[in-house]
Amino acid sequence: MTAKILDGKSIAGEIKEGLKKEVESLKEKGISPNLVAVQVGENPASAVYTRAQQKNCEKLGIEYELHTLGQNSGEKEVIDHIQQLNQNGEVTGIILQLPLPPGIDTIKVQSSISPDKDVEGVNPANMGWVLYGKPKLIPCTAAAIMKLIETAGINLYGKEVVMVGHSDIVGKPTALLLLNKFATISVCHIATGERGNLPEYVKRAEILIVAVGKAHLIKGDWIREGAIVIDVGINRVEGKILGDVEFEKAKEKAAWITPVPGGVGPLTTAMLLKNTLEAAQLQKL
Ligand code: NAD
Repeated sequence: MTAKILDGKSIAGEIKEGLKKEVESLKEKGISPNLVAVQVGENPASAVYTRAQQKNCEKLGIEYELHTLGQNSGEKEVIDHIQQLNQNGEVTGIILQLPLPPGIDTIKVQSSISPDKDVEGVNPANMGWVLYGKPKLIPCTAAAIMKLIETAGINLYGKEVVMVGHSDIVGKPTALLLLNKFATISVCHIATGERGNLPEYVKRAEILIVAVGKAHLIKGDWIREGAIVIDVGINRVEGKILGDVEFEKAKEKAAWITPVPGGVGPLTTAMLLKNTLEAAQLQKL
């Protein structure tokens, strides 16, 4: 079997086309989505993201501003800035660029973002709505993963799903979204790997999602015949970008697989833009 490619890039393109039309119709109703990214200090990795965010927003007609606070800003200063943005009626979306300088409590700052403006879905209130099965603004990568599964045309009810990685932003919310669809979900993490149990879990996955950040951690011959493989990992190795799954070998066994790059990444960006419109609608419609 050679897997079909879950082409995140082209799905993202279609979503963005739709969003562009939605922005136009919102503007006709006098609603102008306006996204503000807050970053503390300069950071080359963050600059790549903020430039991409700006370009994407411009293409869709969403206003975008980058607010860079000084590297020495304290927690209170950052929270005060976010609270001003919460109160500013013209700002409809807020992104907090990570990492924050040492000494600043990231969750505390994320908690200060108004839940209705929280386009990354990182405020505990938005995380909580995911837990209750009534999601509002969903963490973007988790939303992208769900979209990819939907594209593969899979009914999740009772399916054996293995999520490798339990980060707050990817693994945990994805596991909850899958649970809400009645998938039978196993969540693996570093301790699963250290006990040597990872192959055993991966081998039984009808749907395998990997968000670890270790190039080719998941061997191709562990993949179950006919599985759907969603590789979230981004690893820079000798000038190349590799996923967490051995793509070439895995694609001989899987039914569907995401490429890296060009799979989850571009769709995550599209979901951020989708959330930006949804946030504007939550506040203004
Ligand atoms: P993280 O770095 O916060 O956590 C890593 C997870 O992997 C943890 O659950 C840890 O326990 C687990 N882990 C580590 N070593 C392991 C091992 N040997 N066996 C099993 N599990 C192990 O994770 P994150 O922020 O979700 O990021 C994971 C990867 O996904 C990174 O490569 C990141 O760059 C990428 N990522 C991509 C996107 C995208 O849009 N494509 C978005 C977010 C993250």
